[in-house]
Order: sequence, then structure tokens, then C-alpha cells
Amino acid sequence: MAAILITGANKGLGFETARRLVAAGHTVYLGSRDAERGRRAAAELDARAVQLDITDDVSVAAAVQTIEAGGGLDVLVNNAGIQAEMTGRNDVVGAADVTADLMRKTFDTNVFGTVRVLHAFLPLLRRSAAPVVVNVSSGLASLTRVSTPGTPAYAYPGVAYPASKTVVNMLTVQYAKAFPDIRINAVEPGFTKTDLNGNSGTQTVEEGAEVIVRMAQIGADGPTGTYVDAAGALPW
Ligand code: NAP
Repeated sequence: MAAILITGANKGLGFETARRLVAAGHTVYLGSRDAERGRRAAAELDARAVQLDITDDVSVAAAVQTIEAGGGLDVLVNNAGIQAEMTGRNDVVGAADVTADLMRKTFDTNVFGTVRVLHAFLPLLRRSAAPVVVNVSSGLASLTRVSTPGTPAYAYPGVAYPASKTVVNMLTVQYAKAFPDIRINAVEPGFTKTDLNGNSGTQTVEEGAEVIVRMAQIGADGPTGTYVDAAGALPW
């Protein structure tokens, strides 16, 4: 059984992923930027709460210490993310109105936060016998999809969120090459009903978490450097 950290797991896809991985018998560290929300969520699942704000060096360093003291880490699920361009259930800030500040806010969490967590936890992961990283990306990360007319991804007008998730895909490819002993993959959960999209998603969290849960448990023989959804490989 593995020791697994899930960032942003106090609700949404991260919480459902934690629930399933606890049920599978793993030791699950449930990351939450708000300590109290994290404690409540972890208590509900029999997981271990870890205060973890991925935009904060001090918080991330403390989480590393806690997990190291708990015996180390095998699997890191980089799930925490924001979609700052959503201004209402169906209102998205598009190219005409996107600002450097909106890009910075989005990248602070989705990109720089993910790198901060990866960098901080690499030493622990490298000590594991079967280290795995799951980067929760998006179908909107796919340049192929977003540029293919007639697809839902093509119709999405936002700039910041897709750009940030395309970077997450690039991180996946580059880290996978740099660390051949670690299985590092990007996953697209699918359009899922959560607070991220004003609960406008068409899938349940149970459906959305499926691929995250599966790719968190691939073990040492699993693929690396891939980008997949529940049905298989996606075009970059
Ligand atoms: P969600 O319900 O809004 O959950 C997002 C989680 O990330 C929350 O726990 C949130 O914490 C946390 N978070 C945000 N900023 C953080 C920070 N700085 N440090 C730590 N945690 C932070 O959304 P979700 O749909 O489950 O999203 C999970 C992941 O799936 C995201 O990476 C998202 O981009 C991706 N995704 C979602 C969909 C979809 O349709 N829902 C589709 C493709 C990809 P708070 O509760 O404190 O805000």
C-alpha cells in the first residue's frame, strides 16, 4: 500500500480521489490550504489532514516535514487548481479582457504552485520504491483539441486556464524525461460538476475521479510521460 498526497483535496475531485484511495487501503494525506476545512474533510474519510497552500513556500515545506516524519511519500497527486476566468456559471473572461493579473493569478496556482510542490516533494518521491506523480490537467490543455473546430474545447473562450494547463502538460513531459524512475502522467478528468465551474459540469465527481484514482495506482511498471483521460491517450 502506498503513501499518497493529494493537493486541494478538501472538496471536489480531490476529495473524491482521497475517498477512493482510502477505500483502496492506502495512507492518504489530504492536502487543504484551509486547515479547518482539511481537518473536517480528512475526518470524514479517515485520511490524514495536511495544511498545504501550494502558493506558499512555508506551507509546502511544513507539509514535506510532516509527511517525511510520517514515513515518506510514494504518490503525489497535483490536483489543486483554479479557473480564475470564470466570473459566473457560464461567464468566462476571454481574449478581449484577459489581463496580465489574471494570467499571473492563474499561473501562481496552476503552474508555479505545481512546480513548487513537485520541487519540494521530489526528494521524498525519489526515496520511494515505486514513485508516481499524477498531474491533474484538463482537456483544455490540448492544443489539438482547442484548435479543432466543432469540439467543446474549441468553443471555450478563456485564455488563462487552458494556457496554464498546457504548461502542466509540458511539465509532465519534461519531468518524466528527467526522472525515469518516477511515473509522471497528466490526466484529464472530464467536465465534472464542481465549484471550479460553478457546478455546470456534466459528469459526477465519481466519474471524474476515475482516471485520477487509476493513474495514482499504476505502480513501478506503469506508463510515464502520458496524457490520458478515462478512455485512453489524448492528443497533446
Ligand atoms: P474544486 O472543487 O474547486 O477544487 C479545487 C481544489 O483546489 C479545492 O480544494 C481548493 O481549495 C484547492 N485549491 C485552490 N487553490 C489552492 C492553493 N493555492 N493551495 C491548495 N489548494 C488550492 O475544483 P475541481 O474541479 O475538483 O478541480 C480539481 C482539479 O481538476 C483542478 O486542477 C482542475 O483544474 C481540474 N479539472 C477539473 C475539471 C472539472 O470539470 N471540474 C476538468 C478538468 C480538470 P479551497 O477549497 O480552499 O478553495
